[in-house]
Amino acid sequence: MAFKGLLLEESGGKVSWKIATLEESALPAGDVLVDVAYSTLNYKDGMVLNGLGRLVRNYPHVPGIDFAGTVAESSSPEFKQGDPVVLTGWGVGEQRWGGYAQKARVKASELVKLPHGLSLKQAMTIGTAGFTAMLAARALEDQGLKPDAGEVLVTGASGGVGSVAVAILAAWKYNVTASTGRAANGDYLKGLGANTIINRAEIAQPKRPLDSERWAGCIDAVGGPTLACVLTQLKYGMSVASCGLAGGNELATTVIPFLLRGVNLLGIDSVRCPMPRRQDAWKRLAADLPLAKLDAIAEVVPLSVLPALAGRILNGEVRGRVVVDVSLT
Ligand code: NDP
Repeated sequence: MAFKGLLLEESGGKVSWKIATLEESALPAGDVLVDVAYSTLNYKDGMVLNGLGRLVRNYPHVPGIDFAGTVAESSSPEFKQGDPVVLTGWGVGEQRWGGYAQKARVKASELVKLPHGLSLKQAMTIGTAGFTAMLAARALEDQGLKPDAGEVLVTGASGGVGSVAVAILAAWKYNVTASTGRAANGDYLKGLGANTIINRAEIAQPKRPLDSERWAGCIDAVGGPTLACVLTQLKYGMSVASCGLAGGNELATTVIPFLLRGVNLLGIDSVRCPMPRRQDAWKRLAADLPLAKLDAIAEVVPLSVLPALAGRILNGEVRGRVVVDVSLT
């Protein structure tokens, strides 16, 4: 059956897009066919839509690194027609066609059954960014972080990962400090549960190999010199969960904070996160995230505006989460 999707094509090294009518036979191999309801715009989607980073090697290509929808056909015993499902990562939307279309075909081993209490739209308001925020928050807790430990910092706070990270940590009763370059977003971040807002310029560069101890933990979506600075300001034995590179992918630091303060640098990967941890993270998101607050961070858009929004997310100009209603072209 034919369906609509956003198709990227390449010619002479330039990537162009169109809304196309596609056939199921063009979808990649897989044992589950999904009627996609929503996808989202993540930082990586911004790169794919702009043909950056050599993330996509084969064109024509349907982007969209995540989606939520309903199972249309399944040859796997794990899923049956009508099951609500969510997918993030696994190279979908990069190496294979993704969620910016009304249908997707994937492997059953990549899908998570939507936990009770979350709608398809809410699942994509969370999306890859929010799922990553949960993995980061869990990683800090696995290292022993407790709400009474002190201020927990979230960098890139107005973005997708940052917004959900603030909401999760606040729901778990942490004392959250949100770092942002956009002072106008202060009320938005306080609405999500941040106790304190700081200007990201304050932590943009490390000042010395060891700075005053301030942070009981950090979820870092920015990387680069910001992450280097956070390492110098972590309290003794505490951890930063590194999940992003919005401010740079290089890390120039010293080993001093590791040797003298025993701090930890935790790596967060959402793409190949093993299934049990994935399912657990989605359950915690459904149970713990204040869903009313989720609606406040979502902007719902049709497929055709994504190419224009791609540059904005790469420039750090998107606030919260962009949810794509794929029935709207
Ligand atoms: P967004 O663009 O929504 O958010 C990034 C935020 O970082 C911006 O909103 C801005 O926040 C801040 N920022 C942007 N540019 C700079 C800069 N030059 N210096 C300092 N701060 C900056 O992206 P996402 O939240 O979707 O993703 C954040 C990062 O996490 C990306 O690098 C993405 O690739 C990565 N990521 C990693 C995943 C993983 O599996 N590890 C999964 C998902 C995302 P403000 O205006 O508030 O300062």
